[in-house]
Amino acid sequence: MNGIHPANAFNPAATCPDPQAARLVATAYDTIRRRYVEGRHQIGAAIIAADGKVYVGIHLEAMVGRFSVCAEMAALAAARLYTDQPLLAVAAVRHPKPSEAADARIVSPCGGCREVLLDHAPQIQAVVPQGEQGLFAALHTMLPIKYVGTKWTTQLPAQTP
Ligand SMILES: [Zn+2]
Repeated sequence: MNGIHPANAFNPAATCPDPQAARLVATAYDTIRRRYVEGRHQIGAAIIAADGKVYVGIHLEAMVGRFSVCAEMAALAAARLYTDQPLLAVAAVRHPKPSEAADARIVSPCGGCREVLLDHAPQIQAVVPQGEQGLFAALHTMLPIKYVGTKWTTQLPAQTP
C-alpha cells in the first residue's frame, strides 16, 4: 500500500538554502515517500542530534482522530530511544494525497509538538516554510510563553554539544 508516487517527486529540500536544513528536510521527505499510506501516514519528520545522527518518525493516524501521533513526536521518541545527545533541529514534510495536484511540502510543528519538543530540547530549531523557502527558526520563538508546570522538579541533563 505504501509507495513512491512519481507524480509527487518534488523534493522540498530544494527550497532550503541552509545545507543542514536541506539534509533534514530531504530525510523527512525520503521517510514519508517510503512509508506513505493514504489516511494513515502522511507526514515524515527528522531530528538531528548534536553528534550529527538523524532520527526519523512518521505520523500515525488514529481512527479516533485526536489520538493521532504527529511525526515529530515519533521522531522525538526514536531519538530519545537511542541518544541523550542534545537535539538541535527538526523538520517535517507532508506528502500529498494521490488525489491532490500538489507537491510534498515542509510543515511547521503544531502547537502540541512545539510544547513537547521544547520540553525535551529547549534549544531546538525547526525548519519552517517562509515564503518559498524552508528556513530555520528557533522553536522557542514560535511558542514564546510556553506552559510550565510542576511535574518535573529536576532540570534536563546539561545540553551542551
Ligand atoms: Zn504535531
